[in-house]
Amino acid sequence: MRRTLRILREHIPLEIKEVPTGTRVFDWIVPKEWNIRDAFIEDPQGRKIVEFARSNLHVLNYSVPVKATVPLEELKRHLYTLPEHPDWVPYKTSYYQENWGFCLSHRQFLALEEGDYRVVVDSTLEDGHLRYGEYLLAGESKEEVLVSTHVCHPSLANDNLTGIATATFLARYLTDRKRRFSYRFLFVPGTIGSITWLSLNQRSVARIRHGLVLTGLGDTGNLTYKKSRRGNAEIDRVAQYVLKRRDPKSDIREFSPYGYDERQYCSPGFDLPVGRLSRTPYGEYAEYHSSADNLDFVNSDKLGDSFSAIVEMFEMLERNVKYRNLNPMCEPQLGKRGLYDEIGPHQFAMLWVLSLSDGEHSILDIAEQSGIDFHSIYAAAEILKKFELVV
Ligand code: ZN
Repeated sequence: MRRTLRILREHIPLEIKEVPTGTRVFDWIVPKEWNIRDAFIEDPQGRKIVEFARSNLHVLNYSVPVKATVPLEELKRHLYTLPEHPDWVPYKTSYYQENWGFCLSHRQFLALEEGDYRVVVDSTLEDGHLRYGEYLLAGESKEEVLVSTHVCHPSLANDNLTGIATATFLARYLTDRKRRFSYRFLFVPGTIGSITWLSLNQRSVARIRHGLVLTGLGDTGNLTYKKSRRGNAEIDRVAQYVLKRRDPKSDIREFSPYGYDERQYCSPGFDLPVGRLSRTPYGEYAEYHSSADNLDFVNSDKLGDSFSAIVEMFEMLERNVKYRNLNPMCEPQLGKRGLYDEIGPHQFAMLWVLSLSDGEHSILDIAEQSGIDFHSIYAAAEILKKFELVV
């Protein structure tokens, strides 16, 4: 994780925050820091057959140190495989239960012979720090859009490298854009990271107007948006609007209290307007949490599609403001201002903006009620603003 955050700093000026082991964060305590140098299994002939040095998926993540020689029967209690996909290595963790173990392909597991095996996990589990990365890209307003992604999975591409890469390049993309909102990017270890961040930032979360948890954005499935707990937050409506227009097969799901860090942002004490964007949701593709979730599994066109959907959502959030009609007593005379010529086919859009711009309806409200495209409504409102008919 430390290396991951360092690499991200080559692309964006990420601040790396450290919170010491033992810090109380709501009902949780920042755990000990896990470091690992090496781990392997030697077969009865003394050959190394499973090696952490070859892939960091081979060790049960957070394994306590062990140096022992054990018979096959006992070893098997510490081995994890995927029988349905005999060539893949699973990704397993044991965060809150002290345990050690190895992950290997089921094919290799079936070939293990009776005998004594030497197992070594050269790890430490000691007081240290929880680390996360944070970057605030300031906008005109202090109101924020939160973008959060987990960074704790080793060597897995769709979940979670695609989330990390997308968040990083969104930050870069937005740097050169005019921004009404400020954008806060969080790169946190799953669950404990978002809980820790929320615990340390309780007083400033009120600034969060919209938020997205990003993960699993590069597989070939359709985009899937999971609504915030509120269910009708602006981000929920914008996501539905953008996704359904980009691809009618996009999936919109109701909130549920399981999943990724949206669980914490949407917990009832915060109830933040934070949804989750992915393609195929976690656990619904075979490669999930296994060695098969690698760079070959990620499709660059789909990853690009996810990126541009988010850009479109953010553009809508930026533009989704409320105008007020300055001439609400009967229709203003558009003809004498030359607006009948200028508007052409957009004349309906103008009339809708004038009719609904009472300070209550946003551009999205008007688009939904009129059935006219959001960007046409926005363009009409901007023309009316130029002619001082709305503010
Ligand atoms: Zn995961």
